[in-house]
Amino acid sequence: MGYIVGHEINHGFDTMGAMFDSEKDIRNWWSNKSGKVYNERTECFVKHFNNYLIPEINRTINGEKNKDENIADSGGLRQSLSAYRNFIKNKIKMPKSEQMPKSEQMPGMDHSPEQLFFLGFAQVYCAAYKITDYWREVSDVHTTNKFRVIGALSNNGDFATAYNCPLGSPMNPKTEKCRIW
Ligand SMILES: [Zn+2]
Repeated sequence: MGYIVGHEINHGFDTMGAMFDSEKDIRNWWSNKSGKVYNERTECFVKHFNNYLIPEINRTINGEKNKDENIADSGGLRQSLSAYRNFIKNKIKMPKSEQMPKSEQMPGMDHSPEQLFFLGFAQVYCAAYKITDYWREVSDVHTTNKFRVIGALSNNGDFATAYNCPLGSPMNPKTEKCRIW
């Protein structure tokens, strides 16, 4: 849920959100510099997602069309992890500790709390696709579920740390991690 809330908040700060002020009036409230830097950082996402091929229909993801959603996924994931870490810090009253307490582990599962956090994110997009679903999504602003998950996670250094993904492995590529904020 934290990720979903974070995703939607991010939309207030993307190229669409930039066009509306706090009174919901159409007014671009970004400085020229903010817009320029945002667009530069956006390019990373566009290139990253353009590389994903959906083999079932032999089409690649359209990184340009899906950029706002992919950026919201990435930001929502980062910010919800940050919120979760703050929650744990307050809960265990150990302000300097980065270590999650054992009590946050799921009984019967051999996963750390942060591994479970990322697993929870991935499960949001667990779905059975038919070929018609892939074609329908070609015109959607959202990326196909599988690549929403892989794209957001492979751009997240905390995920790589949580799952011990070596640098250069598919889920922790050597290319710079895409991020806006
Ligand atoms: Zn969205």
